[in-house]
Amino acid sequence: MKKKPEQHCSFCGKKKDEVMILIAGIEGFICENCVNQAQIILEEELGKLDKNQPEINLKGITPKEIKSFLDQYVIGQDDAKKVLSVAVYNHYKRLNQKSEDDVEIEKSNILMVGPTGTGKTLLAKTIARFLKVPFTIVDATVFTEAGYVGEDVESILARLLQASNYDVKAAERGIVYIDEIDKIARKSDNPSITRDVSGEGVQQSLLKMLEGTDVQVPPQGGRKHPEQKMITVNTKDILFVCGGAFDGIDKIISRRTERQIIGYKNQETHPAAHASEENILQFVTPQDIKHYGLIPELVGRLPLLTYLDPLDKDILRAILTEPRNALVKQYKKLMEYEGIELILDDEALDFIVEKAIEFRLGARGLRSICEAIMMDAMFEIPSQKNQKSLHITREYAEGKMSKSKLKKLRAA
Ligand code: ADP
Repeated sequence: MKKKPEQHCSFCGKKKDEVMILIAGIEGFICENCVNQAQIILEEELGKLDKNQPEINLKGITPKEIKSFLDQYVIGQDDAKKVLSVAVYNHYKRLNQKSEDDVEIEKSNILMVGPTGTGKTLLAKTIARFLKVPFTIVDATVFTEAGYVGEDVESILARLLQASNYDVKAAERGIVYIDEIDKIARKSDNPSITRDVSGEGVQQSLLKMLEGTDVQVPPQGGRKHPEQKMITVNTKDILFVCGGAFDGIDKIISRRTERQIIGYKNQETHPAAHASEENILQFVTPQDIKHYGLIPELVGRLPLLTYLDPLDKDILRAILTEPRNALVKQYKKLMEYEGIELILDDEALDFIVEKAIEFRLGARGLRSICEAIMMDAMFEIPSQKNQKSLHITREYAEGKMSKSKLKKLRAA
């Protein structure tokens, strides 16, 4: 009788009794050692591929599609959405650019000018959500020049690292939203004035980071300690979006456009002549930003400038009900979990909008007002077994508001 050939690994040749496991294939076997080895090779090769191919694949995605995504979450602000969509599209196209290309596409960091609570942060956040990239929000006012009490600008990147679970590669393609950039404006337009700690120095320290450089980041954020192991983060592919209310810039713009905010003259000749006090921001230019007190180098590193409209009654009303995660939808869902149908009268919604306008907090006020109106019900309902619905009328809303501490906001 012919002896059966001894089974062995077709890759390393080891015999069955020399290994723990032999896995059978059509033509032969593979042992556990070779599987492990293959795994390592795979990881190495795929890792290499990963480095060459950015994980953000914008193939087939157009700026229009980016804007439609933004439309689901952000009401109005069409100009800002358009600028952002194009900026993001070009930014990630730039990341795909082959290094041998002779025309290097420059980074398209963005500056958004607009009143508080009009959706600047929301826009930046939604873009990050669309791209599924790490995102962080920082407030420019916490920064000080190195050596002073406060945070170093490097802490921006520490936060981005946290947001990416310390995946440095992912963080290096993330988005940072720097809020209140107007608060680090130079106090005077005159560059010869003595340096102010919180203003120009911080602007200077942001420059390199915005442009793209290797930054040594203390992993836990905050101050550097000599014994701490630093993580190197390259910022060349990080998209920086800055935002600020730039209170008073309307005057700078209207002065430049040689017109007064009120009392339009030359209505037909100058485009700005048709602007009301509300939307004069649409004519904002980099010069106005410089005039306001951002240093020219910083303005230069934020090449895309856009503005946000103040939110009028109709937009606030739409914000309450229309976005995918609109406040009204959220409250309805919360009540649904309790087996309760929430009915909000149109007049009650009008009341909420009126209060938000009165408080001058943009859409940010909507949430606090809704909370004040809904608080008692949300406290009581989980312990009431028989209730099937909650009907919020204007009177109900007015009653709850009149008892609320929020009334005091009016003074602000
Ligand atoms: P900003 O950064 O301009 O001060 P935010 O983006 O933080 O304002 O807006 C505050 C809140 O108001 C957001 O969480 C969002 O729910 C809501 N909001 C503001 N503007 C809009 C908008 N245009 N569309 C939808 N929601 C908005």
